[in-house]
Amino acid sequence: MKYANLTVIDTVEGVKSGNISCEELVWEIYDRIERSELNAFITLNKENALAKAREVDKRKADEEYRRKKLLGVPIAIKDSISTRGIQTTCASKILDGYIPPYDATVIEALKREGAIIIGKTNMDEFCMGTSTETSYYGPTRNPHDLSRVPGGSSGGSAAALSAGEAVLALGSDTGGSIRCPASFCGVVGLKPTYGLISRYGLIAYANSLEQIGPMASNVADTALLLEVISTKDERDSTQIKIKNNATTNYLAPSISRYEDASIDKEIKGMRIGVPKEFIEGVSPAVEQSVWNAVHKFGDSGANIEEISMRGMKYALASYYIIAMSEASSNLARFDGLRYGLRTGKDEDWHTTFSRIRGEGFGEEVKRRIILGTYALSAGYYGKYYLKALKVRTLIKNEFEDALKKHDILAMPTMPFVAFKLGERIKDPLSLYLADVNTVPINLAGVPSISIPCGFSNGLPIGLQLVGRHFEEDAILKAAFVFEQV
Ligand code: GLN
Repeated sequence: MKYANLTVIDTVEGVKSGNISCEELVWEIYDRIERSELNAFITLNKENALAKAREVDKRKADEEYRRKKLLGVPIAIKDSISTRGIQTTCASKILDGYIPPYDATVIEALKREGAIIIGKTNMDEFCMGTSTETSYYGPTRNPHDLSRVPGGSSGGSAAALSAGEAVLALGSDTGGSIRCPASFCGVVGLKPTYGLISRYGLIAYANSLEQIGPMASNVADTALLLEVISTKDERDSTQIKIKNNATTNYLAPSISRYEDASIDKEIKGMRIGVPKEFIEGVSPAVEQSVWNAVHKFGDSGANIEEISMRGMKYALASYYIIAMSEASSNLARFDGLRYGLRTGKDEDWHTTFSRIRGEGFGEEVKRRIILGTYALSAGYYGKYYLKALKVRTLIKNEFEDALKKHDILAMPTMPFVAFKLGERIKDPLSLYLADVNTVPINLAGVPSISIPCGFSNGLPIGLQLVGRHFEEDAILKAAFVFEQV
């Protein structure tokens, strides 16, 4: 392999200087994908990607091309994100064959900056899951151990990155779907502050919780991709106004190469809180590895303090009620009339609607629509949905308090390493419980990054760093410094 383990920075520089042939690079990536056992992709974009690569090679010296931040970078896109002309299924039978007529805002940004879309990655159906096993297109496997799950729901994106089937990837995160697979596959994944990235073109699961976010093999590449996708967009009313209409610059603080002395300078005096509720109950190997990581920050001059966030025990229940309630309403639009699946002959509305949804949705999706509908129904609304919203406010306040006293919070991303395929899928509750450390972050809307911090029996462990709203630069900086150390 000529182009193994390329970073984004190396790729862009290599393509611009002519040291890398973009077309050869893209061929090599497809060669790897076609021989792969991972099932990381649902749809490939081979012809278009190769044509685009040839164009990049031809025009790389043009002024316009030289300015592109992701020139020639092969990127994998989670199949929950709409791509014009490329099948987008959300890993559901009900959307099988659906080809969006428009691009999500983040895809427009990627194209503007010269990235090359390799294909659409496998995921849990409608982002509902933690293992990429609920996909209609079969599970994805973990590159570190093919008998294990890659995490989910952005499991295809994480597996592809980890196996060199893409240089960069996009995921989406409603309750951990970027950070969990990043942790299980040993890559970096960032869930941005709610409202930073446009959700226009993201197929909705639970709108009040989810964000599209960057995934990469290192922190600087993650920062660069975040910078590219955080563009202002009038089409998402929940997006905050980004200053000066410009993209935010996350790369500067994290990319400069630190000498040891400046690492100490960056970290010295940084206040890092470690909430004990996020450590209790995790596996001994994960606990050990995360404390080792935290002590590295301590050695570089950070002030480490163990803290308590007592409301966290209610986060999972609150999250699942809110997520399922929003899902039950969002998924009403999939009726077989406007998108995807259309089977049998048309009868009266109720019969046709029920038949298509019955055939088109998988078991987990149906379970959530039913539970969400129940939680929203008259008589139970106050008892479940409203109560979950109140708990959410308490959790958000607790994060704000903790982040007043501390610059960042550190904790394990997942309570354990990647589990075996088939091990938990039969018992939905055991899968939900795996999200215990990731869902509180989405309830609070704060940003969080997962970075590799060790291994247990050859399987990666993820460290999660959480920051204040819109302070992605702080967690990126800390993550970058940790990576260097
Ligand atoms: N595992 C969580 C769920 O199933 C989170 C998934 C996600 O972030 N999309 O809801």
